[in-house]
Amino acid sequence: MNVVQKYGGTSLENIEKIRAVAKHIASFRKEGDGIVIVASAMGKTTNELVAMAKELGEDVPKRELDALLATGEQKAVALLAIALQNLGVPAVSMTGFQSGFITTEHHSRARIKEINTERTEQFLKEGKVVVLAGFQGINEDGDITTLGRGGSDTTAVAIAAQLGWDCEIYTDVDAIFTTDPKIYPDAKKLDRITYDEMMELSSTGAAVLETRSVEIAKKYNVKIYIGKSLETDKRKGTYVMNDSIFIEEMPVTGISISDDCSIYSLRGMENDGVAIAKLFQLLADLHINVDMISKQTYGDNKCTISFSCTDEQAKDLDKAIENHEILSEIMVEKQPNLSILSLVGVGMATATGVAGKVFSILAKEGIMYYQITTSEISISVTVNRDEKIKAVIALCEAFGL
Ligand code: ASP
Ligand code: MG
Repeated sequence: MNVVQKYGGTSLENIEKIRAVAKHIASFRKEGDGIVIVASAMGKTTNELVAMAKELGEDVPKRELDALLATGEQKAVALLAIALQNLGVPAVSMTGFQSGFITTEHHSRARIKEINTERTEQFLKEGKVVVLAGFQGINEDGDITTLGRGGSDTTAVAIAAQLGWDCEIYTDVDAIFTTDPKIYPDAKKLDRITYDEMMELSSTGAAVLETRSVEIAKKYNVKIYIGKSLETDKRKGTYVMNDSIFIEEMPVTGISISDDCSIYSLRGMENDGVAIAKLFQLLADLHINVDMISKQTYGDNKCTISFSCTDEQAKDLDKAIENHEILSEIMVEKQPNLSILSLVGVGMATATGVAGKVFSILAKEGIMYYQITTSEISISVTVNRDEKIKAVIALCEAFGL
């Protein structure tokens, strides 16, 4: 069996856990298997490294930050390779540079351009377990780059795509559930989920898999299995795979929850396009990543523009509003502390009445909602954060999740 397995930071938190992962690999490995292991940094190492850099000044030079963060994964792969060798398993660790991950130049958010697997394949031929550092690569200037937070998933899926193998992602949750079991304990485990659904769930708050890795998996048809570290019973986890084998009987597959949302409404804006363009240019200059945008036109050439952003970015915006000409002239209304609930399901593409059902459930529960957005396979509604749990439970019960 050939396989790429990725172990997250919590699975490699300390030496004991690294030893346990190594023992696990030794126990299933058979002569002739091709095994590539992708490792994240141990525990919270990446956060700790970021914090250390920030102690020296808020503005951390990105090139140096990448050089620093890459050490987290480098340490993890070396220790795991040592642990494997101590168990008599031939193993070799490789950094992003050694394993031929060539990326774009963008520090802290580099994209993979190509993977030269020559050395990896040579080591595999020699019967070695190849332990790859996730999250990192090298750009054409020869500098160390990182792929963005959570990027080890991307490394794992990308190498699986390149080798044409399946990819198993081992983490600290058992599987993908219809919603967060911490919020709705009756949430059901999903045996399988499509790439599109997983992408939508990941990008709207389900933090189990990095969205980009699912994009790559979809593009190159890499079968992903998500399960708990060291668990060998594959029935307990979730497969992310192609749509075609699914029966689209249920319109909603899952609900993701994102707690980080504030909505602004600007009333009485000129409806001439220029003012709106200026507003969004200003938001862009402030590096505010706006999400849901809506515009309502009324009467005498006026309109209301609403948009959402994260709570953190809302703080920057509040400061800007105070001393900004365009913004202070128009009425700015802010709704902070919102949660976005996203109902996701491929069945939604063809089903009708899902929005109607969502709104009648929320109405019945007396839950206020604000901005709404839809995509082909999702509906997102924003609710007050203190009503989130009530809303999730009502929606899960109504949609049988
Ligand atoms: N260690 C990196 C992070 O914490 C990459 C990863 O774990 O996927 O973001
Ligand atoms: Mg992760």
